[in-house]
Amino acid sequence: MTLLLNPETRRSEITQPSNVPESSGVELSVVVPAFNEALGIAAFLELLFGVLHGCCGRFEVCVVDDGSRDDTWQRVADVQARFPELSAIRFTRNFGKEAAILAGLRHAVGRAVLVIDADGQHPPALIPQFLDTWRNGGAQIVAARKAARSSDSWMARASARAFNMIMRMVTGLDLTGASDYRLLDRRVVDALLAFPEKVRFFRGMTVWTGFSTRHLSFDVAPRIAGTTQWSSAQLTKLAISAITAYSAKPLGMIFRLGMIGMAAAFLLLMQALYSWLANIAVSGWTSMTVIVLFFGSANLLGIGVLGAYLAQVFDEIKARPEYLIDKELRSRVSRAQSSSDG
Ligand code: UDP
Ligand code: MG
Repeated sequence: MTLLLNPETRRSEITQPSNVPESSGVELSVVVPAFNEALGIAAFLELLFGVLHGCCGRFEVCVVDDGSRDDTWQRVADVQARFPELSAIRFTRNFGKEAAILAGLRHAVGRAVLVIDADGQHPPALIPQFLDTWRNGGAQIVAARKAARSSDSWMARASARAFNMIMRMVTGLDLTGASDYRLLDRRVVDALLAFPEKVRFFRGMTVWTGFSTRHLSFDVAPRIAGTTQWSSAQLTKLAISAITAYSAKPLGMIFRLGMIGMAAAFLLLMQALYSWLANIAVSGWTSMTVIVLFFGSANLLGIGVLGAYLAQVFDEIKARPEYLIDKELRSRVSRAQSSSDG
């Protein structure tokens, strides 16, 4: 606990050199969060390894099975024999994409880590460009931006637009077109892993670190198979935690709303007094209804926003692990290494 509270300790933790041994010699670690991707994961890994063999020195790929309820795990185990650099982690249940990314970052040993979706919507063909930009451009983060979302429904596009607008207004982070398809230098990964918080929003956190960033652009491809795994309830939850984790502005907004309401109520009171004095008072039903509705909903809204922050604090304070691992498949490369070490 003192570790978390002492700012000196935390600063030294963040600037500490990486825990990953230089000798790992892995240039790129690829993290693939996957939830119910049984239909397409084998084809995706085939594609991914094809690209990696062509452009990368030593690499590793880690699939994080986020508690899939289909045969994703089985499919990954089936193809492992063909890909010596492939390892996998399986969660006990669905903990969400953010947790899966975190597990992948913790597992990775590369000098750079690339996060990519398992459904083929993030084209692996872009990987050589990621590597070139990172190797030559001196940037610590290479982030791919969605140029076109033509394969998304209008509903998905409209919600993404609304979310980005609110996020920009409230937190100042511009996430328009941002995706989780990004490459992070080891320094960025180590900085992210030193964050003590439980509630995470990968995209926002990497922007927050402030490391130098280069952007690539890509067209969102159609899924190889299956449908999106996000329910609208999950998306709303992600949006609320993304906002409440980055800004306390909504709390200030409620306060201002309260002030405006008070001013409006005062004006109405003046008007009511005048009508009464001038003997032109009418039944007052409409204004009463408006006042009651306005303050009733403003109250509920305020409690809702407070509740969202309280829930965030509650989650942090419980300090439960972000995920639980059920099983792991080690890559043949690391198994060979540990048997030669021992
Ligand atoms: N995913 C995950 N856990 C979840 C939901 C999704 O690991 O609870 C993975 C999913 O398998 C995919 C990536 O996150 O690799 C993006 O998910 P999806 O394609 O459903 O989202 P979208 O492309 O619509 O953003
Ligand atoms: Mg997708």
